[in-house]
Amino acid sequence: MAWRCSSSSNKGLIDNLWQGGIVKSPRVRDAMLQVDRGYFAPGNPYADAPQDLGMGSRISAPHMHSYALESLEEYLKPGNSVLDIGSGSGYLVAVMSRMVCQPGKEGKVIGIEHINELTLLGQQSFKKALPDGQQLLENGQVEFISADGRQGYPGGGILFDAIHVGGAIPVVPQELINQIKSPGRIFIPVGDAGEPQYVYEITKDEKGTVNSEKKFGVSYVPLGEKEFYYRQGSKVHMPVK
Ligand code: SAH
Repeated sequence: MAWRCSSSSNKGLIDNLWQGGIVKSPRVRDAMLQVDRGYFAPGNPYADAPQDLGMGSRISAPHMHSYALESLEEYLKPGNSVLDIGSGSGYLVAVMSRMVCQPGKEGKVIGIEHINELTLLGQQSFKKALPDGQQLLENGQVEFISADGRQGYPGGGILFDAIHVGGAIPVVPQELINQIKSPGRIFIPVGDAGEPQYVYEITKDEKGTVNSEKKFGVSYVPLGEKEFYYRQGSKVHMPVK
């Protein structure tokens, strides 16, 4: 069903994801309608397929972004705090900011990306794509930081309602589990490159009990060493808009 969702416009794409039953929550749909993928994808922004961002990175397919947002939806309430690890294009930071940030008030989204060129590009696209983008960056409600995200927010010290991980890792780091609130949830692809990978939904309940659920098979780029990515090119591709 997923591949049938492609369209020639952002609205057409989101309508197709909705009609196909991939986007189910009106909050997710409304947030995705507010963020034009053309500001984040370097080609075919409304095709339901991943696009190459350069340097071994890629913006995930719209249906994959939709699954991630649906999985985290109840933890993406206005005023909540969110971490996006391997933020790449910045697209999910933008969509999640529509769900949690109340300008000038509560709500925080932090994107971590280890390739500095992409951190800067994500931030620039965020600013261009959203009418309040610059304001959210200036008041610190949205941050793009360059760091290795495998241990979550560098140095810890912040707890998140939701953590999205955009690359596959062989084992779930305990530090990520430590950085979610009770209740809170992590969406994370688990598996080695070249091996079968599965998305896990890791949920901490009000009492702090952690439950891990294997969801579906996927194919993500690795959440790994920076050197691996730098070997794959030295240029990022600019978005369509
Ligand atoms: N979710 C993003 C990008 C997915 S690709 C989007 O849809 O646009 C995965 C991203 O994770 C890549 O941009 C890659 O550079 C980044 N990444 C890989 N390993 C990382 C690490 N150890 N720390 C931080 N970012 C990492």
